[in-house]
Amino acid sequence: MFKVGLTGGIGSGKSTVADQLAALGAGVIDTDLLSRELTAPGAPILARIGSAFSDCLFPDGQLDRAALRARVFADAAARTRLESILHPPIRALMLERAAGLTTPYAVLVIPLLFETGQQTLMDRILVVDCPESVQIDRVCRRSGLSKAEVARIIAAQVPRAQRLAGADDIIDNGGGPEALAPQVERMHRRYLAA
Ligand code: ADP
Repeated sequence: MFKVGLTGGIGSGKSTVADQLAALGAGVIDTDLLSRELTAPGAPILARIGSAFSDCLFPDGQLDRAALRARVFADAAARTRLESILHPPIRALMLERAAGLTTPYAVLVIPLLFETGQQTLMDRILVVDCPESVQIDRVCRRSGLSKAEVARIIAAQVPRAQRLAGADDIIDNGGGPEALAPQVERMHRRYLAA
């Protein structure tokens, strides 16, 4: 299976591009969804996270994602511990699902592709890019986070220049939807021909 790793900063438009590629016929696997699936109530990995981060569970045993996010954001060691629990099973499930697709190619949506060193698993790396000011506007509108909070998240991600330097293909999503769709179609045709 030909694998396209789709990445980009928060609010750059990864989900939007992935939805459009899916509508054109690509097989899309979103690692955020895999992470949720693997940490759903009753999942074995949840129990492991729960024992490592018992202060981030609701009384009913469900994961308090906001508390966990705040915890690992503030504490690098906690972040590494969480990643060591979560990332290997996410990666394994992602590759298993990709191998089972019957679509012409697979798009693996991985927000932290560079941060987690998954470049070598991909045949192509597609970066969705826009200026940071646009990321901030979009995320504030979508989530209600403050500008400062979004800027902090952006600062914790790989710098834009480094992401662009690691890209095989780039979609410029600094413009409106009318500028995005033709670029997505062009990429789709390129991947069909690969
Ligand atoms: P990501 O998955 O990278 O975090 P999304 O695809 O969710 O980003 O996009 C972030 C927000 O910006 C969403 O609300 C989305 O609808 C909006 N958006 C994405 N691309 C554009 C665009 N070209 N013009 C205007 N809004 C956009």
